[in-house]
Amino acid sequence: MPQILNNALDAVGNTPLIRLDKVAKLYGLKCNLLGKVEFMSAGGSVKDRIAKAMVEAAEKDGKLIPGKSVVIEPTSGNTGIGLAMACAIKGYSVIITLPNKMSLEKEAALRALGAEVVRTPTEAAWDSPESHIGVARKLEREIPHGIILDQYGNVNNPLAHELTTGPEIIDAVKSTPSTSARVSSLKVDAIVCGAGTGGTVTGISRAIKKTHNKDCIVVGVDPEGSILALPDSLNTKTDGIAYVVEGIGYDFIPEVLSRDPACVDEWVKTSDKEAFDAVQVIMRNEGLLVGGSSGSALSGTLKWLKARKDIAETEGLNVVVLLPDGIRNYMSKEWFLNQALHGELSPLASTIAKV
Ligand code: PMP
Repeated sequence: MPQILNNALDAVGNTPLIRLDKVAKLYGLKCNLLGKVEFMSAGGSVKDRIAKAMVEAAEKDGKLIPGKSVVIEPTSGNTGIGLAMACAIKGYSVIITLPNKMSLEKEAALRALGAEVVRTPTEAAWDSPESHIGVARKLEREIPHGIILDQYGNVNNPLAHELTTGPEIIDAVKSTPSTSARVSSLKVDAIVCGAGTGGTVTGISRAIKKTHNKDCIVVGVDPEGSILALPDSLNTKTDGIAYVVEGIGYDFIPEVLSRDPACVDEWVKTSDKEAFDAVQVIMRNEGLLVGGSSGSALSGTLKWLKARKDIAETEGLNVVVLLPDGIRNYMSKEWFLNQALHGELSPLASTIAKV
């Protein structure tokens, strides 16, 4: 990589894979636990990658006109921040439709990057005209040169992860030699990702299974209240309950995920409490300022490993957990102030499954 980057988009992705040794020790894991730390991307999340890819693909197809096009996107915020960053650089206007539950920090970042933000009712069903998706579609119809790049259906969403996130993880694992002090299979043996659109989990899965290790176990994490997990019986007990964690889970199956459900081998459900306790565990033990869905991913990983002692207890196996964004997105949220910041949490948080 050249030393001087052309603009902030060149600082998207290429995030570090960091050992979560202290967490692994606390939970009695013998396998390697590795975190892919996405808040270190320029816009602060895993979604920078797809925003950049979708804008560049639309430009290539002649769908965007600088100074004229208005990029409109329904998002839980992070895709919006990535788009606003790309569009600030490239000269397109941006309107983001954002459900009310999403943090003030995301709205502030969006506005700081020059985007307009339209809040929508969190409880609106995805296919109602009031939802973030419904409002974005209406704006697209009404605004001249309005265009939705559509992270829920756009092939460049999973493709960005197949071409960048996945290969980065594979390269990091393959190129870190096994030593007597640190044994490694040199393979990605399991990967755990939360799912919103499903772009991250399906794209990474494809990269790993096609080019690296077809036997890698891909685990999807879905919050209680959402319906993305399979089999559907996992969802029935909590279907429709409100949850606070942002960026993962939906009340419909996005096209990106439904196109290739076999990319995910197993699903785990997690609660808000488990997620937010896990955020504190990561922050205080690993010094990593991760966001809420990173806590979901870690608590989902620990729950899954509890049932998979064959993996948890095998030295040298590499279990990767994707940590999608950072805590600076959530510092005004009640859960952060009450639980992750001040919570009386023992290192072995009682709500997180012990292996
Ligand atoms: N975590 C956070 C914080 C997110 O913003 C998103 C994207 N909505 C995800 C996880 C899930 O990513 P994906 O849409 O690729 O499934």
